[in-house]
Amino acid sequence: MPIRATKRGAERTAIDRDVDVLICGASFAGLAVARELAGTGASVMVLDRYEIGERQTSACGIPTSWLQALDLMGSHRQTFGELVIHTPHTSARFDLPWTFSTFDYPELCALLAEQGGDFEFETAKVDGHTAGGSRHAPVHTVHTDRGDIRAKLVIDALGWRRVLGGGEAIQPPDAYLSRGLEVHPHGTAEDLEIWIDRRYVPAGYGWSFPAGDEVRVGVGSFDPRFHVKDPTVQLTHDLGRTPNLYQGNWIPHRIREATENGVFFVGDSAGHCLPLTAEGIRTALYFGIACGRELAAVLTGEQDKAAALARYGKFSAEHRWKFESMLYVQRLIPRVPPRLLAPSLQGMTRKRFVDWSFNHYLAIAPPTFVRQQESVKV
Ligand SMILES: Cc1cc2nc3c(=O)[nH]c(=O)nc-3n(C[C@H](O)[C@H](O)[C@H](O)COP(=O)(O)OP(=O)(O)OC[C@H]3O[C@@H](n4cnc5c(N)ncnc54)[C@H](O)[C@@H]3O)c2cc1C
Repeated sequence: MPIRATKRGAERTAIDRDVDVLICGASFAGLAVARELAGTGASVMVLDRYEIGERQTSACGIPTSWLQALDLMGSHRQTFGELVIHTPHTSARFDLPWTFSTFDYPELCALLAEQGGDFEFETAKVDGHTAGGSRHAPVHTVHTDRGDIRAKLVIDALGWRRVLGGGEAIQPPDAYLSRGLEVHPHGTAEDLEIWIDRRYVPAGYGWSFPAGDEVRVGVGSFDPRFHVKDPTVQLTHDLGRTPNLYQGNWIPHRIREATENGVFFVGDSAGHCLPLTAEGIRTALYFGIACGRELAAVLTGEQDKAAALARYGKFSAEHRWKFESMLYVQRLIPRVPPRLLAPSLQGMTRKRFVDWSFNHYLAIAPPTFVRQQESVKV
């Protein structure tokens, strides 16, 4: 159960603290890291601009097996055994080898935070950091709008901005970023649907993800210059629904270094969102767990920080070719003429191909990772 020391608004007090671990960002990646540090006895602080679970930025779709593996089914909304893909010339139904589910963001964050044990949580805007201390005992000072926090281990789980990165801040539209926007009209639907249709977006896709009593309808563009508000409104109207509750964000589509200047980067800050599908929740959890395990080994004295940085950086880099392969396909699909897309898509619905491709896709960040490593740790 996270412990809160201070309040919001006018009652916010200055923070001037020393902690063992400072996790910046309390969404999927940050909370997954915190989960792995429970029980280490270390002082762990988590920071976010908003309350935990306050700002949803995604359609919250994930392979069901990940919700099960992390004991997060309490946040579950709806499950799908099929994926329906629409193009201008055909609609294809894929019988998936595993199911996909939607979940409630605040509920999932609350459940995940519970698993993080007694970490301290504060709302603060992270502005940057300064590295200090000695070579053998490095200390980072993280600057926030409420003051400075010093920590031996610092994690940037702040999303695409990579706030604690050393280089130039990446800015859209000149970066490897996609653009996503969605609405959440009230209502129900049965199917998990995708539109690859240039009437909505020249390079990208539209989606409809039902989630109990609401349907999450949106459009993502791989080209950050292409604005997706009008297409989102159009798709929502085409589905006979009324657009409401807009939410959007940039989505990184290229993997980046997962460590830099002694800082660990997890989730979107490391470009851990999968290109082509823009699936970044499962991977944020996966790399968050991997990072958290390396940090836990530092806190229990099994390895030093340098080893943790090296091991986590290598672990992330080993996945690079899979992310790059998906980026290649992301760039290829918009070039396929729509008339060719239809027969190709129908050909791909063959069960053997669907099972093979979707199982390989799941294996990029498999749910078995959650338990495999836990049994090693015990
Ligand atoms: C419209 C849309 C729909 C999507 N749908 C899906 C989907 O269905 N399934 C899927 O797998 N992926 C989806 N994605 C991608 C997914 O949302 C991201 O990949 C995922 O959220 C990454 O998790 P994260 O924890 O790394 O970063 P984030 O979820 O972006 O979390 C970053 C956290 O850091 C905080 N923060 C940021 N800057 C600061 C700062 N300076 N100081 C303090 N706090 C800060 C934020 O408040 C936030 O809580 C979607 C993305 C979009 C835009």
